[in-house]
Amino acid sequence: MSKVLVIVETGDGKVRAHSLPGITAGAQLAQATGGELHLLVLGAAPQAAAEAIAAAGYGAKTVHVAAHAELEPFTAEAWSDVIVAAAKSIGATAIGGTATSSIRDALPRAAAVLGAPLAPEITKVIGPNVFGREIWSGRALGELVVEGAVICFTARPSEFTPAAPGGAPATIAAIAGVAPSKHGVTVISLEKTQSARPALNEAKVVVSGGRGMREGANFKVLEELTDLLGGALGASRAATDAGMVPADLQVGQTGKVVAPNLYIAVAISGAIQHLAGMKGSKVIVAINKNGEEPIFQVADYGLVAKWEEAMPKMIELVRARMAAR
Ligand SMILES: Cc1cc2nc3c(=O)[nH]c(=O)nc-3n(C[C@H](O)[C@H](O)[C@H](O)COP(=O)(O)OP(=O)(O)OC[C@H]3O[C@@H](n4cnc5c(N)ncnc54)[C@H](O)[C@@H]3O)c2cc1C
Repeated sequence: MSKVLVIVETGDGKVRAHSLPGITAGAQLAQATGGELHLLVLGAAPQAAAEAIAAAGYGAKTVHVAAHAELEPFTAEAWSDVIVAAAKSIGATAIGGTATSSIRDALPRAAAVLGAPLAPEITKVIGPNVFGREIWSGRALGELVVEGAVICFTARPSEFTPAAPGGAPATIAAIAGVAPSKHGVTVISLEKTQSARPALNEAKVVVSGGRGMREGANFKVLEELTDLLGGALGASRAATDAGMVPADLQVGQTGKVVAPNLYIAVAISGAIQHLAGMKGSKVIVAINKNGEEPIFQVADYGLVAKWEEAMPKMIELVRARMAAR
């Protein structure tokens, strides 16, 4: 019987929201192969999170837990040791997870060790070993066939509905005898972004600014709208490269892939590499002074205006609407 193993990231004793689309992709693959869904939770002390995930079920048969001090802070080296050990011990036929930066880093290592093919950033499960994915920065859709005793995949979060709790609780099993190593890598420091805002790839609303904002100080107006809507701030690569805002706010092909309920793109032209990171958003609003820009081709609502004029009015209207609630 096929066994699909999905790597689940956790924090504060619970599943990270960005892992849920990967569980959905794994469940779809388990269904396509007539197999079982298994989840892998790993960290220095992941027991509480594993119990919460097992209680929520998610259609999984078993939650496999690997607890080891070497697993934190994250390194692809130590994580891939565990992924390989877990895959071998349960006899996984497929291994995957959401295409987050950690899984995009660790899974290819594990795939190489296992001699397994990897289908990256899939957008669709078409068959037991056939996946849909975008090619040429989203200009075309391809079908990827991967063959092997074990196959690996990462799932683009914007293309799979987040898994919801349900079904019978899963059992919990420890991955025994695994001794992960950082293989000589030393994490010198870890700087966490301190922000009261939700994480960019988990936020329900994202307000992004582009080169047309001209300088970092002008992002204040976007931050005001972001905070009114309880969202996260994003940016185009042109804006991050110019140092207007930190690089971790970059949305796009080489930045974060987001799929919020509402994406507001301000002074962003809509280059294909930017669209690759946000076009899965449910509702897209574009504000740009040039009505010919490609961002308007993906926008549900477009406003041809200068942000200097549009943003204060928009903030005023949102504030008034919220006060009237
Ligand atoms: C390999 C590769 C990977 C890349 N990865 C990414 C990625 O991950 N993310 C990403 O974003 N880009 C990425 N890029 C860069 C991408 O090609 C574009 O250069 C970039 O997205 C442009 O950013 P922008 O829209 O902010 O700037 P521009 O294209 O310069 O657009 C600025 C926009 O602001 C508008 N504007 C100007 N002034 C105003 C005003 N006062 N009011 C309203 N509108 C105004 C203009 O009309 C224009 O549309 C990548 C490129 C390559 C080659």
